[in-house]
Amino acid sequence: QPVDIQHPVSVALEFFGGSTIPLANGRPDHLFENDGQITKRPVRALSLSALAPQTGEHLWDIGGGSGSIAIEWLLAHPSCQATIIENDKTRAARIAQNAANLGAARLNVVVGAAPDALSDLPLPDAVFVGGGISDEMLTYLWENLPEGTRVVANAVTLEAEVLLATWHEQKGGDLLRVELAHANPLGRKRGWKSSYPIVQWSVTK
Ligand code: SAH
Repeated sequence: QPVDIQHPVSVALEFFGGSTIPLANGRPDHLFENDGQITKRPVRALSLSALAPQTGEHLWDIGGGSGSIAIEWLLAHPSCQATIIENDKTRAARIAQNAANLGAARLNVVVGAAPDALSDLPLPDAVFVGGGISDEMLTYLWENLPEGTRVVANAVTLEAEVLLATWHEQKGGDLLRVELAHANPLGRKRGWKSSYPIVQWSVTK
């Protein structure tokens, strides 16, 4: 079967010299150049699952970091669209490069701070909040998003967790706590090295 080079996955395969990029969300972290600010593979897989991209849908990825969430959204289908909002210029440039490397160059990168930077954007079908979460941010989203928009927000700090617990109480949706541990060397043996727990709120407005 001929390879359609326009397809994002084919382009990405070409970029990586034929090495394969998995088709499932939660691709390896090292595919995304990053400075440590990246939603790690297992949590990213859960986040994309909650965002639940469908054909032709548009995502806002607020607090883009390395771009991994928006890029995986775009890899779901060639008709998917995404706008990423990142207030750090260096990271924004890295995001654009990652998107180009992985066959998702159509990613729209907005350099600016949300929620102010959101006002002129075409409305999304789903929103991921991976950075800059605050009461002001959630209030802005609630006042401006059309009904039916899916919102997924991840919290790692206690302060953000309290915020999500409060909003969950008021608006409903699903609150998920993810506690992961990886086997790590411990002396000459191994032990479970825990990551910070993540609290994920998913809701449809
Ligand atoms: N989901 C990302 C990681 C996000 S890290 C990934 O997988 O790579 C959080 C990011 O949010 C950081 O890059 C930080 O610069 C950005 N950020 C924090 N507050 C913001 C705001 N108000 N508007 C836009 N970006 C913000």
